[in-house]
Amino acid sequence: MQIDEQLVRNVVEQVLARLGGNGTLAPVGRGYQGRFGQFTAVDEAVAAAQEAFERLSRCTLADRKRVLDHIRRISREQCVELGTMEMEETRIGRLEHKIEKQRTVADTLGVEFLRSEVFSGDHGITVIEHAPFGVIGVITPVTHSLPTLTCNAIQMIAAGNTLVVNPHPGGRRVAAEGVRRYNEAIYRDLGIDNLICVITEPALETANAIFKHPDVALLSVTGGPGVAKVAMQQAKRALVAGPGNPPVVVDQTADLDRAARSIIFGAAYDNNLLCIAEKQVFVVEQVFDAMMAAMERAGAVRLTAAEIERLTPLAIHPPGNGHEHPMADKRFIGKDAAELARAVGRTVPAKTELLFGETEEANLFVAAEQMMPFLPFVRARDVDHAIEMAYRSEHGFRHTSIIHSRDVGNMTKMGKRMDTTIFVKNGSSLAGLGVGGEGYGSYSIAGLTGEGITTPLTYTRERRCTMVDNLRILGK
Ligand code: NAD
Repeated sequence: MQIDEQLVRNVVEQVLARLGGNGTLAPVGRGYQGRFGQFTAVDEAVAAAQEAFERLSRCTLADRKRVLDHIRRISREQCVELGTMEMEETRIGRLEHKIEKQRTVADTLGVEFLRSEVFSGDHGITVIEHAPFGVIGVITPVTHSLPTLTCNAIQMIAAGNTLVVNPHPGGRRVAAEGVRRYNEAIYRDLGIDNLICVITEPALETANAIFKHPDVALLSVTGGPGVAKVAMQQAKRALVAGPGNPPVVVDQTADLDRAARSIIFGAAYDNNLLCIAEKQVFVVEQVFDAMMAAMERAGAVRLTAAEIERLTPLAIHPPGNGHEHPMADKRFIGKDAAELARAVGRTVPAKTELLFGETEEANLFVAAEQMMPFLPFVRARDVDHAIEMAYRSEHGFRHTSIIHSRDVGNMTKMGKRMDTTIFVKNGSSLAGLGVGGEGYGSYSIAGLTGEGITTPLTYTRERRCTMVDNLRILGK
């Protein structure tokens, strides 16, 4: 038998793979290499992700960075193909934005965001480091299937974790294809497979099996009210990025043209699918008509009262059937503005980005997270009235709110009252995620459980290492 360097490397690798953390022999590899993260059974997916976690734990930070470089490169270079796949499968939103989301998610913060804290004093030095949890169970929405998965994967792997994803059934194929491409590239380069595992036939049962699996250390759930509620009831820690219904207030001091451009940009992006997107607008009486005119100047199309009356019952269902708030009709979610207009017998140019119109506060569009490009505008007596209606319409989700104003007092008043995770002043909602504003982005905004806009540090647990009376090199 010829012994060459490669053979020795392989043997060493196999022995290392079988060594558990305490030096005992772990079970022989269960043959998940080469699956590229594709699983139908939750037990197998978790076992493969656990195996991958053990391998990742033996890697350097430079290796982790290399893993992320593959995910980033594929996201950027293949954004047109993957974005198109996402559009064709989900049939909601806008193709140009599906592609843009897939390209820009590559910039999600990774290993560079990790840091340690140090306390140095008379009694020596204490270092707080951020360690991974292990295997994270992940739920992703249909509104951004592969972008959410990619964002979660970059942040979780940066922190040293691996993940098992139950995608929304409506976006499962693009999720599985992305996972296959990422894992294959990582495996070819670093010899580790299954850092990201995906359930290729996801269902409520598989989600539940992930929630309950003893080897899943943490849950990260991004979705609407139903799944958010279920996630909060689990026996293990869950980070919940739940629904939003972001209100906008426009007061009498606002730059109305700027406000109109910002509202259209945020609300029309991907046909209003973003959880942060503007969903209803409260304008003080004094500038209401001027604001409506500014919206038209900026390119939005105004519906008449009769058209809104026809659209509302078609597009929004009242609360009931277990839903606390009005719910959007699936036939209209993420559809183009021209298609919504057509439903009420109106023909508008195909490139129309947004429809809007005046409604009462009681109109169902105000309380619903419509996820379609029609925005209700409600008259307010004054800014206090506008803020109160905005507060009611947000349902205490603590997600996102926006104000257009030049009055710092009004901004402060609204910020305090809303108490949302994201509060944008004089910009589009997207500015709150770093698009046209400062700061970083994420596809999971954990408002309900308080972690906020997730980063790699969100997916870590603190470990403290204390050196007593030594290592501090400063004098007395
Ligand atoms: P959805 O709630 O229908 O589905 C989300 C995910 O949860 C899917 O994978 C789905 O299969 C799963 N799911 C649904 N009910 C479940 C249950 N009872 N048990 C286990 N799993 C369940 O939402 P969607 O239409 O896919 O996405 C849109 C929603 O997600 C909106 O409400 C939006 O605000 C929210 N969202 C929030 C954020 C955020 O960061 N906070 C980001 C994106 C989307």
